[in-house]
Amino acid sequence: MSACLSLRSSLALIPIMGLLCLLPASGDAASRHEVKTPAVAGEAAPPAAHAAPGGHGAAGVDPAEALARLKKGNWRFSSAPFSNGKPVADRRAETGQAQHPYAVVVGCADSRTPPELIFDTNLGELFVVRAAGNLLDAYGLGSVEYAVEHLGCRLIVVLGHERCGALKAALGAKDAPGHVGALVRDLQGAVTMGRVMPGDPLVNAIKANAVQIATQIQKEGQFGGAAGEIQVISGYYDLDTGVVEWPGGEPEDEPAAAAGQGH
Ligand SMILES: [Zn+2]
Repeated sequence: MSACLSLRSSLALIPIMGLLCLLPASGDAASRHEVKTPAVAGEAAPPAAHAAPGGHGAAGVDPAEALARLKKGNWRFSSAPFSNGKPVADRRAETGQAQHPYAVVVGCADSRTPPELIFDTNLGELFVVRAAGNLLDAYGLGSVEYAVEHLGCRLIVVLGHERCGALKAALGAKDAPGHVGALVRDLQGAVTMGRVMPGDPLVNAIKANAVQIATQIQKEGQFGGAAGEIQVISGYYDLDTGVVEWPGGEPEDEPAAAAGQGH
């Protein structure tokens, strides 16, 4: 089973339209992603009233508090043999007419990395954008902008993960058939960085890619008045332990605080 085959499997989750019009930038890995707008003549941004069903348009949970919640949730997830029982029926009723997620997670489409599970959340807590290799096209970046502007999210997490099939495929080949080729090509910048860094090239590439995507969001995202309020960070999810490694290197370990927060 090749890495490409497993990558193709995960691609079934990805909308095909507009898939990755990302171009490598000469000599600047951090800015290699150039997001193109949808190629539909006359298409414009939806009016705010239409674009924000249930949104409140105001700042929600600040980034530090949102990150603390994610860390506590990941501690609960990684330290428990079973997922906590959650009041989903009550939560459906609470969120049916409006959503107020406290963080955006830009994840990989890999079936082993659902952010809602990894951070032990219930309905309405996370606004999740996923594609193989964490890559963001105009639709993905627009989704992030929407969550910030209309839903009040102020923390954006790019969550890379151990043994990512997309990065593994990009390490093995510079191109691939079909639309997988777009993924593999646009991950080459991270692969190059991973190869020149000390340590495991795949782990390096995965972490470098998450940092690059975070940089892309910061540079290309249009967040209006919220631009000064948001925080964009990258994390690395360990498939074996369930623990997310955050900037600074060490996962959070706050059992006392985490134990008291079950949703
Ligand atoms: Zn992946």
